[in-house]
Amino acid sequence: MKSTIGIIGGVMLFFMSGLAFANSYVKDKLHKPVPGGVAVVSLGEHSQAPKVSYLNKPVMVVSNGNTSEYLAIVGIPLKSKTGVAQLQVKTPTGAQKVAFQIQPKKYKEQHIKLKSNKYVTPSEEHLDRIKRELAAQTNAYANFRHATPSNIVLDRPVEGGRYSSPFGLRRFFNGQERNPHSGLDIAVPSGTPVKAPADGVVTIVDDYYFNGKTVFIDHGQGMVTMYCHLSAIDVKKGQTIKRGEQLGKVGTTGRSTGPHLHWNVSLNDSRVDPAIFLGAFQP
Ligand code: ZN
Repeated sequence: MKSTIGIIGGVMLFFMSGLAFANSYVKDKLHKPVPGGVAVVSLGEHSQAPKVSYLNKPVMVVSNGNTSEYLAIVGIPLKSKTGVAQLQVKTPTGAQKVAFQIQPKKYKEQHIKLKSNKYVTPSEEHLDRIKRELAAQTNAYANFRHATPSNIVLDRPVEGGRYSSPFGLRRFFNGQERNPHSGLDIAVPSGTPVKAPADGVVTIVDDYYFNGKTVFIDHGQGMVTMYCHLSAIDVKKGQTIKRGEQLGKVGTTGRSTGPHLHWNVSLNDSRVDPAIFLGAFQP
């Protein structure tokens, strides 16, 4: 068996979409395989969870309900090209590649005028600070804790409000293009409670140059969420937090033009559209 997989598995791609596996609640909810989206990919039936990586980063694997089918929950980086992509899958009997398709999506543009150039062209001194803060966040996103998340279809972290700025928006500050919008903005009044959308561990509590007062929660298996521009923080670094527990209050600290929650969701170190996890994805 092992030698067969060694010979065939090394060169063969498995297109799983045509196979007759049970329909999945998770796939129905989360499978939006676009750049900045999520692919839910069947790994077939196994006696234990296969180990999966994508772009050399570990990927979340969950069982499909009470079946022995396993699903990879893959974050697709916003910069990805469309077409066939491949997961590396390891099982006790060998290694194989599992393919999935990345479909196209067009993201909108927005031009923003900021009165202060402080946030458009930061000074030398601020650049050092920004670098340090970026490194801390990059580190938190790359963390892979083996605990399985309590839930991967997430709760809305704030009640009410409208989605004021979508994920992936291409942004121009005073005419200069900056990174696309890495999260979802929800416009709600200052002081609105922000609640954890799933169980987790608080990995960052800080006050950042761009993001203002910020909290990171690590939900396990590479699912990490970030909450920015908060007016108050109610948690401490290193503590566990339960689904529904308050982590802070909405504000407008950092580079922000008014009170709102900026919310990031990351899978396998790829920032993906948080709206997907709320059932609010716009194709
Ligand atoms: Zn934002």
